[in-house]
Amino acid sequence: MNKIRCYSCARDLQEGSLKYVVEIKSYADFDGFLEDYPGDVELGMVELLKELEDTDQKTLEDDVYQEMVLILCKACRDKFYKGLLDTAVPISVDRELKDTIH
Ligand SMILES: [Zn+2]
Repeated sequence: MNKIRCYSCARDLQEGSLKYVVEIKSYADFDGFLEDYPGDVELGMVELLKELEDTDQKTLEDDVYQEMVLILCKACRDKFYKGLLDTAVPISVDRELKDTIH
């Protein structure tokens, strides 16, 4: 049988014990607006494609989308949420911006 440990404190989480799955996803948002490119657009595209060829696949994927799944004990789950609330700067989401979030 696989042992399950809390991702944060490494405490053994026995079968049947209280544990939490925390899923964290972040992905690049596109608001439909493209900046004006200051130079030759075709040349810019060629340069961009060259840059992409030189960048490894994992880095490109991480720039667009990341996902984590953590198993936490109750104490660490509670600390996790408290930490989010203690450090989060209030975000004012106006109606127009909110509508672009998928
Ligand atoms: Zn823990």
